[in-house]
Amino acid sequence: MSERNIAIIGAGYVGLVAAACFAKKHNVVCVDIDEGKVELINNAKAPFYEPGLDELIKSGIKSGKLRATNDINGALESAEFIFISVGTPSKDNGEIDLSYVKSAAHDIGKALRKYAVVVQRSTVVPGTTRNVVKKIIEEQSGRKAGKDFGIAFVPEFLREGNAVHDFMEPDRVVIGADDDRVTDNLLELYRDFYPKMPDSTLVTMSIESAELVKYASNLFLATKISFANEVAELAEKIPNVDIVDVMRGVGLDKRIGPSYLGAGAGFGGSCFPKDLNAIVHFARKIDVPPFITEAVLKRNRRQIERIVSFVVDQLGKLDDKRIAVLGLSFKPGTSDTRESPALKIINELMRLGAKDIIACDPKAVDEAKRVFGESIKYTEDPFEAIKNADCAVVVTDWDEFKNISPDDFAGLMRNPLVIDGRRIYQPEKFEGKVKLICVGRYIQR
Ligand code: NAD
Repeated sequence: MSERNIAIIGAGYVGLVAAACFAKKHNVVCVDIDEGKVELINNAKAPFYEPGLDELIKSGIKSGKLRATNDINGALESAEFIFISVGTPSKDNGEIDLSYVKSAAHDIGKALRKYAVVVQRSTVVPGTTRNVVKKIIEEQSGRKAGKDFGIAFVPEFLREGNAVHDFMEPDRVVIGADDDRVTDNLLELYRDFYPKMPDSTLVTMSIESAELVKYASNLFLATKISFANEVAELAEKIPNVDIVDVMRGVGLDKRIGPSYLGAGAGFGGSCFPKDLNAIVHFARKIDVPPFITEAVLKRNRRQIERIVSFVVDQLGKLDDKRIAVLGLSFKPGTSDTRESPALKIINELMRLGAKDIIACDPKAVDEAKRVFGESIKYTEDPFEAIKNADCAVVVTDWDEFKNISPDDFAGLMRNPLVIDGRRIYQPEKFEGKVKLICVGRYIQR
């Protein structure tokens, strides 16, 4: 396949990773309304941390196959594929906020001059691609879908922290389209880009089924996490039980699998919480009781309360204690703090009177500063964080924290107490040196 011209609207985690990866072969232009982001990309820099992304952007800019702009008209002039990757946050009531998607569709409609396949990639509730995106583009362009432009939904499954790898080696590509020309165009694009991908993992279906695949996948993964957390709370009350062993035993069942069974501080990030809230809202709207989704969210909220209760049970009054929170990003490998359990835990500790919190993260300090300003202290050095602390709480499982030994904790802390909210330490090694409270391990009361 020859080089194709691709325009990607929205240069965030999804859009920019796709752009940088596609630019290995195709000509890609990213369109973003954020001028700072556009400038950074054109200067060959990633606006956020994602392993491998900086290098890809550098080589894309150097080869001339990748560029960024805020001029959608220019960007769409020669585009054969137009990907929409703008954000779809939650409204206050949990409902999906489609304002960015609508505005992107509006801008595409205004700029569309020739046939192109418009691919909705932002996660949206079923019906949105057809009834909102397609409709707005038709209204604004005066063109007809199916004849003058194509429309499809292709969900994105990448995980932040592994985004480049996940884009380059996806488990599957799901193409939602109901027009043969669009399906054939997209099959050609993806078959060519992933030459080793078996046909069985390149699946086609209706637009609405593809939209639901994305929500159903996230609901299932979030359910596994909340399931592990529920069993973890049982484990804490049963002598000699450890959730790590229990989930190893459970996950070896091929029907279940070992991933997403880690008990801990719960899930966060820009996807699971908002997508589950969107499902609840959408389900109610079409008269379906969202039993499982609500329970998963409820269990997830409880994990925050439980980690905080471990701290309070051990320290009592918080106002004269120094608490080191190890981790700010919602998971390792990213600077993203959206819906991060760490931020919720810090907020709750402050609400309960904590006045001396030092938060540590190798990548996300700048993001957290925008949230907490000067109300807490920050460091990127875990050893500085635990120095003179009365309690250290592990909230994100960065490798940097795994390297802190029991002797380091014992030597540096004022009161050697560690709450392992991600199960990164081996309890036997801490015995007699540091008091270690672990999520999902029997806690003697
Ligand atoms: P993001 O917030 O990181 O990026 C969105 C970008 O779109 C921003 O740079 C913003 O400036 C830009 N934008 C907004 N309106 C625009 C417009 N009209 N024109 C041009 N640019 C515009 O979001 P994200 O994390 O990349 O997520 C995008 C979508 O992908 C969401 O629907 C999300 O649910 C979904 N998704 C995200 C992930 C993930 O891990 N982040 C994974 C799978 C799916």
